[in-house]
Amino acid sequence: MHVYISCDMEGTAGVCSWRQCDPQNRHEYPIYRRYMSQEVRAAIDGAREGGATTIAINDSHSDMRNLLWDELPPDVRVISGSRKPFSMAQGLQPGLAGVFFTGYHAKVGDRDGVLAHTYTAETLYEVRVNGVPCSEALLNAAMAGYYGVPVLLITGDRVVVDDVAQHLPWVTGVAVKDGIGHYAADSLTPNAAQAAIRAGAREAMRRAGEAKPFTFAPPITLSLETARAEGADFIELMPGFERTGGRSVRFVHDDYRTIFRAFVAAFRLGGAANVTP
Ligand SMILES: [Zn+2]
Repeated sequence: MHVYISCDMEGTAGVCSWRQCDPQNRHEYPIYRRYMSQEVRAAIDGAREGGATTIAINDSHSDMRNLLWDELPPDVRVISGSRKPFSMAQGLQPGLAGVFFTGYHAKVGDRDGVLAHTYTAETLYEVRVNGVPCSEALLNAAMAGYYGVPVLLITGDRVVVDDVAQHLPWVTGVAVKDGIGHYAADSLTPNAAQAAIRAGAREAMRRAGEAKPFTFAPPITLSLETARAEGADFIELMPGFERTGGRSVRFVHDDYRTIFRAFVAAFRLGGAANVTP
């Protein structure tokens, strides 16, 4: 059984500030990247206890070079580095037994979502697919679903865990902290979080038979609200995108892989508009 883990950082136990997640930060980041890595290790150990044989990990935060190799067992594969065409969903493919999301966080705009955003707070104000406001977890879950692969486990703050449970009720959720607004949290300790994640991963494997691939029904409409009008100015230049308002664009396609690629291209292009000419 081949398990794939996409690991983010903002949803790690204890994390409540960008400084803890910023690779440029020399004080707090080295501490919290270790906790992030240890949470991934806990998910790996739980997956193995639940029957996983091979494990692939996609480092999915910021520059995607966060995981500490010496915190991982020797017999896993790790995708690291940015930029990857499928970003947080790079490496998803048919034939996987299931997907884990660790260290995930609430979507942009969510109340009490610690460091809540959806891919990029600088560029995107809201992401909807078929009218559903999407977290990174939901967008990436649909990419797994495209390949017929279910999401089995999500770990992170309570808001994202509850949000995913609404759409993917078969997922095992481990909430490691409760947000107090955007920049504070009431959290488990890293040790306790890791124990809960390990147990959750084991449980997720046990329930794998009930899990379903999550998909959006075609025709699929991607609606983006950009943080600024200049972001939409850039994105609408891409063939296939339609400008729907001052800060909004739309892209429609039957194929979710094409939707996801359009999404990645759009937030990268939209981000270029943030650079002052
Ligand atoms: Zn992140």
